[in-house]
Amino acid sequence: MFPAGTRISVLTTQPLDRLLDYKAPEGGCRTGDFLEVPLGPRKILGVVWGEGDGTFEAAKLRAAYRVLDVPPMREEMQQFLVRAADYTLTPWPAMLRLAARAPGLSDPPSMKTLLLRGSETPSRMTDARARVLDALEAFDGQPVTLKELTDEAGVTASVVKGLVQQGVVAEIEAPRDTPYPALDPSLPGKALTGDQRAAAEHLAEAIRAGAYGTTLLKGVTGSGKTEVYLEAVAACLAAGRQALVLLPEIALTAEFLTRVEARFGAKPAEWHHGVTMTERRRCWRMVAEGGAQMVIGARSALFLPFRDLGLIVVDEEHDTSYKQEDGVLYNARDMAVLRASLCAAQVVLASATPSLESWSNAEAGKYRRLDLSSRFGPSVLPEMRAIDMRREELPATRWISPTLQRAAEARLQKGEQVLFFLNRRGYAPVTVCRACGDQIGCPDCDARLVEHRFQNRLVCHQCGLSIPTPKACPKCGAEDRLAPVGPGVERLAEEAQELFPEARLAVLSSDLFASARDLKARIEEIAAGDADLIIGTQLVSKGHNFPNLTLVGVIDADLGLKGSDLRAAERTFQQMRQVAGRAGRAEKPGLALLQSYEPDHPVIRAILSGDEEAFWRAEAEGRRMLAMPPYGRMAGIVLSSPDLAQAFGFGQALARGAGPLKEIGAEVYGPAPAPIARIRGRHRVRLLVKAGKTAPLQPALRAWLAQFRPPANLRLSVDIDPQSF
Ligand code: ADP
Ligand code: ZN
Repeated sequence: MFPAGTRISVLTTQPLDRLLDYKAPEGGCRTGDFLEVPLGPRKILGVVWGEGDGTFEAAKLRAAYRVLDVPPMREEMQQFLVRAADYTLTPWPAMLRLAARAPGLSDPPSMKTLLLRGSETPSRMTDARARVLDALEAFDGQPVTLKELTDEAGVTASVVKGLVQQGVVAEIEAPRDTPYPALDPSLPGKALTGDQRAAAEHLAEAIRAGAYGTTLLKGVTGSGKTEVYLEAVAACLAAGRQALVLLPEIALTAEFLTRVEARFGAKPAEWHHGVTMTERRRCWRMVAEGGAQMVIGARSALFLPFRDLGLIVVDEEHDTSYKQEDGVLYNARDMAVLRASLCAAQVVLASATPSLESWSNAEAGKYRRLDLSSRFGPSVLPEMRAIDMRREELPATRWISPTLQRAAEARLQKGEQVLFFLNRRGYAPVTVCRACGDQIGCPDCDARLVEHRFQNRLVCHQCGLSIPTPKACPKCGAEDRLAPVGPGVERLAEEAQELFPEARLAVLSSDLFASARDLKARIEEIAAGDADLIIGTQLVSKGHNFPNLTLVGVIDADLGLKGSDLRAAERTFQQMRQVAGRAGRAEKPGLALLQSYEPDHPVIRAILSGDEEAFWRAEAEGRRMLAMPPYGRMAGIVLSSPDLAQAFGFGQALARGAGPLKEIGAEVYGPAPAPIARIRGRHRVRLLVKAGKTAPLQPALRAWLAQFRPPANLRLSVDIDPQSF
């Protein structure tokens, strides 16, 4: 306890590189308390980190305003933030921002009242008012904050206030946050098969032991991994501890919530950007107070203030979306392991196609490995075959080979569903001018604009720039000379419609749906039989279950193998196996056909052979020889600046001053253009640092970077364990 007026040290969310000293507020405070403190003229959020160290002049010390009425940060969370910051070389304030994402913490004033549909109709309908009413509808009658409403409707607060005065929108007092309905782990689960039971018992035992441990739970899609880890959740809840399940795709949560409800009698708490602020505030608080036993969420849920976290499940642990390439660069899988090790929890990494990292950690005995050997029930894994595109006759602007066409026809005639997979959104990846030869590019990025014909626009997939599709070439002005090059799902749909005029087509691509909810609804319709031919991007490769689907045609199996990325093989392997896993889930055997110009490529051969362990071993051996992750350590340093020469110059200075890295035997490569060389007008240059498996990489990086001061308009970000190298 720090009595009022004593010196405390406070971590704030401001981008400063040190803690700030204050006087403890009226009534005193404790370590971990969330505070409002002054900074210049502003009021900012902070956490009492400990006793002030006295370096700051006592006379200038200001008093903290007040302790916020929220559960204090536990010591374990402080440790987690520090360790995570150390690992990722992230400044502490950025870490705190992740942990203080509860709306009640960041913007308290707007939380007092909530809005919902009132009984009156507007005296006069305007566009803006109609949008407010639509938005309220979209929230399903749930009370929302003013900010949520104005954001969703795209109107100013005064439009909403006007409607409140007329009684069209009603105000209510924000309810106290209430605990979530209790989950009952003693309800009976499904009767498990032999290896499901063995796996579930292993996990339950580990959880009862109450110590840290990580398990790789491997099994093909449909083998019952979810059933098994729900038993682990049951054991965790029965032990009185909290469970967290991370899912890579929020579109999947609805289905998952239903399963949890069927198993435990109530729905768990949810945490992702699709959840209302009110609900997020409740989740944050209840997680801290123990009123939420189970949370399912996106990766940021790892930073929730659990009171007693006993289990973290990372479903589809190999999924690249667990590591987003912006903001704080962390991999949720690795942070889950760190977090669990600090609170004596178990981690379950579930996947049909584990990351090489997890696979090798299991090989090395660091993780326990449990395998589910077959699909549950009568379904079998689809047979996989290649179509050698060198032997197929088709024009340059066609992508469905005669062989694939025949196979699809046969299935469609039997009333079965067919999926064509192409991981390219839009109509065509490139638009070329046949007069001047120019390929229309984004003015701000190193990227071609992608035609989205359904919207009649050209879009940059890097920065989101979107312009109406021009009639004339922007470069030379020639009229009607622009031509699409290459296929996207929209163009593939056009071809498919011509080949299969009778088939009901569905295109599944994230940009074609306004919200995760719409997408989810469409997927359910399709699964229920409301389409014959599905054309989809990687969206379909994640967990959706289409029971009547029996044929998967991979339009371009070589797509992921191009480029110099060393992880390309691993990714392609995972993706092909995942997509193929969509076929034949019910009683009907599935077939996956991979169109490839290189059917003898080792990765394609490995995919077809189905010998996964052989693939992992070969891949691991290759990485080991090069001392690449996971057999060596890597970090990327990305420098971005509007001025390419400046970024390059600074990169060269970094490379020349790499003494601290040499001391640990690390090598520095670059500077070279980053994988995406320009985004939003900023040039990006990257250095790669490669060190031995046990080298103290982070301290060396810190010592190295501390020697330099980047120029004002240059941004430097450190990416530990980069996804591509
Ligand atoms: P995975 O997570 O490996 O994809 P799931 O746990 O989702 O597999 O199982 C696939 C399907 O099989 C689900 O509909 C699930 O309910 C069902 N299932 C799996 N195991 C059993 C079991 N032992 N008894 C009944 N149904 C099961
Ligand atoms: Zn762009």
